[in-house]
Amino acid sequence: MSMKFDKPMTWQELPAGCLIDERATSLHFKTGDWRSMRPLWDAEKCIHCLFCWITCPDTAITVQDGKMTGIDYDYCKGCGICAVICPPKASAIDMVREEK
Ligand code: SF4
Ligand code: SF4
Repeated sequence: MSMKFDKPMTWQELPAGCLIDERATSLHFKTGDWRSMRPLWDAEKCIHCLFCWITCPDTAITVQDGKMTGIDYDYCKGCGICAVICPPKASAIDMVREEK
């Protein structure tokens, strides 16, 4: 947020910085818009161990009633951690290029 000033301010008049003045501000930052790789989830292969849910740094794995339901691409940044952590026997997540 930028502010317009009519006259120079003293340091005492400057607003305090580094403050978060509302809750859940991270919801506004959709990390999916700069992704170059995308995880593709195969529901048939998934064993619902939820390792991906635990490790996803963007909380982009969606879960309902203890089972994985998909990936929220608004927040998935394509880091690939979920694909790496997914057990090899299941191998339910593949990383593909974003344009595919
Ligand atoms: S690629 Fe990264 S950000 Fe996206 S769902 Fe997997 S772990 Fe989360
Ligand atoms: S890590 Fe793999 S098998 Fe486990 S819940 Fe996630 S997608 Fe499914």
